[in-house]
Amino acid sequence: MREVTSDTTSIRSIAVIGSGLAGLTTAIFLGDSGHNVRVFEKSRGPGGRLASKRVANGSADIGAQYFTSRNPGFTRFLDRWAGPRSYQSWNARFGYQTERGSWQAFPEEHRFVGTPRMTAISRALSEHITLASGVRIVRLSKEDSKWQLTGTDGQHYDGFDQVVITAPPAQAQELLRDSGLDAMAEGLAGHVGNILPCWAVAAHFNRSVDFPFDAARPNSDVLFWVANNSSKPGREDDGQWWVLHANPGWTHEHVDDAPESIAEALLAEFKALTGHEEAPDDWVPHRWLYARSEAGDNPGYLFDQNTGIGLAGDWLAGGRVEGAWESASQLVQAMGRNPEP
Ligand SMILES: Cc1cc2nc3c(=O)[nH]c(=O)nc-3n(C[C@H](O)[C@H](O)[C@H](O)COP(=O)(O)OP(=O)(O)OC[C@H]3O[C@@H](n4cnc5c(N)ncnc54)[C@H](O)[C@@H]3O)c2cc1C
Repeated sequence: MREVTSDTTSIRSIAVIGSGLAGLTTAIFLGDSGHNVRVFEKSRGPGGRLASKRVANGSADIGAQYFTSRNPGFTRFLDRWAGPRSYQSWNARFGYQTERGSWQAFPEEHRFVGTPRMTAISRALSEHITLASGVRIVRLSKEDSKWQLTGTDGQHYDGFDQVVITAPPAQAQELLRDSGLDAMAEGLAGHVGNILPCWAVAAHFNRSVDFPFDAARPNSDVLFWVANNSSKPGREDDGQWWVLHANPGWTHEHVDDAPESIAEALLAEFKALTGHEEAPDDWVPHRWLYARSEAGDNPGYLFDQNTGIGLAGDWLAGGRVEGAWESASQLVQAMGRNPEP
């Protein structure tokens, strides 16, 4: 893919909704081209699904587990904007279990993680943008030919030529619908069901778990993924933090269950898988309503020249962390080719 080049021929004021990797990438590229960019994020901090949870004496990555850089432009981007110390290779033992129950090694691939935690990347990237966090945007409206954004608190943010939405498709669709942009909202219908939910539990064990893999995808109705978070570079845990992700189908069935019963079920399955008898002395749950997108069309991005509204996110480019970056990169190129709304 072509590297993004500067287009400062028409300086625009652009709002970016969401500060996951897609939003951060969009804002950095557009800002680097000279545009005035403001990012709005409903959570307290940036990162979205590149997420880490504070736990005793450290943190555990409860969202994305690792990322690839099949397009070398992605790691070039990270080196330039997040810095080469914000991520490292995760050289671990990766395995999956076949339907017959035997274990195989995952294909060789260069896998990266944020150091010392996943959010190190988003924190570093966010230093290059103007971010309003804790602001959920609930409506877009036109005022004097410019876009106005309204937050949950009723506060208005005025004067944008263009708006980029990087929320997952269900949330993007709701925002478009509530803004009276029904045709655009309906256009997302095919994407909405493709992002599946995931219950996650991070659990701490004082003794090392004796298991032949640091990260594994078991053949289980309950567990989708287990990983020794402490095996990632830059983590300095006493004992081991393991991250357990539930299967999407199982999560769907148990989406409203109490976190205690979720943890009980995932930990029982983990014990059966690894034979580790010790109960964890600490655990933290997290429910992702929108976790991974594994199916559907991959148009790369969506951009409506008439309204000046663009959409980017992993769900438009094959899912995954690298897809979020690809999608944002492609959208920015398209906006450069179509500068005027
Ligand atoms: C459990 C789990 C495991 C995963 N494992 C992997 C993996 O191993 N490898 C991999 O490559 N990928 C993995 N992924 C997927 C990866 O995390 C995503 O593909 C990527 O982080 C998506 O980035 P994004 O910017 O497109 O979306 P997001 O990170 O979801 O960012 C969207 C942002 O928009 C914000 N937002 C939404 N609506 C509004 C609004 N109205 N106003 C303001 N802000 C709003 C949200 O708070 C969020 O911060 C995993 C994801 C999960 C949840």
